Amino acid sequence: MLLKYKYKLKPHKSQTAIIANWLELARRQYNYRLAERLNWFEATRTPVNACPLNVSVVVGTLHATSVQQIYQNIPEFRTQTRDGRKKDISGNPITRKGDKHPNIVNGYVSWETVQLADLPQTKKLFPEYKSMHSQVLQDIIQRVQTTMDNFAKPDKNGKTSGRPKFKGKHYYNSFSYPQLSNTNIVKNANGRYCVNLPKVGLVPFVFNRQIPKGFKVKTGTVIREVDGWYISLTIEDKTVPLRRVEIQPTEKNSKGIDLGLLHYAVTSDGEFIEVPKFFRFSEHRLSKLQVRLARKQKHSKAWKILKRKIAKLHQLIARQRLDWQFKLAYHLFSNVSVIFVGLLQISNLVRRCKAKLGDNGQFLPNGQSAKSGLNKSLQDAAFGQFVQVLEYVAWKLGKRIIKVDPKGTSQHCWECLRKVSKSLSDRWHSCPECGQELDRDYNSALLIQKIGLLSTQEEDITSVKTAVRAALAEESRALQPPFGRGEGSVGSMSK
Ligand SMILES: [Zn+2]
Repeated sequence: MLLKYKYKLKPHKSQTAIIANWLELARRQYNYRLAERLNWFEATRTPVNACPLNVSVVVGTLHATSVQQIYQNIPEFRTQTRDGRKKDISGNPITRKGDKHPNIVNGYVSWETVQLADLPQTKKLFPEYKSMHSQVLQDIIQRVQTTMDNFAKPDKNGKTSGRPKFKGKHYYNSFSYPQLSNTNIVKNANGRYCVNLPKVGLVPFVFNRQIPKGFKVKTGTVIREVDGWYISLTIEDKTVPLRRVEIQPTEKNSKGIDLGLLHYAVTSDGEFIEVPKFFRFSEHRLSKLQVRLARKQKHSKAWKILKRKIAKLHQLIARQRLDWQFKLAYHLFSNVSVIFVGLLQISNLVRRCKAKLGDNGQFLPNGQSAKSGLNKSLQDAAFGQFVQVLEYVAWKLGKRIIKVDPKGTSQHCWECLRKVSKSLSDRWHSCPECGQELDRDYNSALLIQKIGLLSTQEEDITSVKTAVRAALAEESRALQPPFGRGEGSVGSMSK
């Protein structure tokens, strides 16, 4: 079980100076290493029409250029400067000083190792990096690696993230210690709780939440926020392997939840949960401040003060939302032990509408302005975060949350599974087949519960689609005697 606990740091003035300086150094290092990678990526990418997009390096084979010619800074081998720490059975180091390691494996540059090996050089050229803890510095290269992976390698849906961006001063807000432990939390001479951050010192912090018993501190990330510095500790207990509770869901001990826009959530026991009013209030205040900001001279004193005010309001809204989501999660679990939740594909919903072009190439109305309101409230709702909160609360209470594919849950009747088409504005579900009359979101919630229950009992039913197919098969089996099967497929094959 892996958890994240966040604490407020209370660094002394001298410590703040160190931390702030490190953050700036880290940002520069990040941008430099990213540029290195991107330059290489641009220089060696094969033409789009010749190779699949994003294939990065095919050295020597396709291009008749050697590695050195494409990129001068990468030698083919790097030489080990001291004996490795890992030892074999007889006590001899596995890797020795002077060993040569290839930087290019199968035509691909192993960038992470190349850049890690280049760090001593950085320290030589820029002595200010000597003040930084070495692991913090190494972690930056790990971050660059992750960003490039997300950019170059498609995920399971075949999508990649956009081209990585260089980080401006206000967009790079944290650095990490990849190895901390429980012994890093100590009391100082005044009896105050401190985190012992290597090379910074004992930084006092608000220890308002004990590390649970059996949990070990793994990593620490120092974060800059609008009202000061925080540390987020990753803590792990390996003896608690996620405490998978096997509660068999039944109709009585479970409920389905449909997350939506008009109502934040609707449950299958008929509860409609609204977005609290204070969000709308804060939003209104925010828009007013934005208008005032636009009138100010950029980078003037008044502008800066206002900018800070806005940032604080954003922080407040985020905190209010999280707090409310926790309360809601506990409330939802109060009378059941299993929750089925239909997880929306939010990225699809918040996408911009396609531009519509007229005959003369002019832009026609495409409904984006109407959707912008929708986009905003969608992001505001932060459903992804809510599902995470639900998962956490479920774990905490020893209960269970099961995600259900919500596709088609608004278009089918929960009772007879018949398709009842409706547009976004149709709020009512009335089934001509079985005469169900109810709110559309309530219908979805009931259907999510039904599909969820089926999916935990029958292997091959995981969505509305499969449920409908199973129901149809059942129907036809009841109506027809089982002969003549398989003949239908012959016709389609001869086509
Ligand atoms: Zn029906």
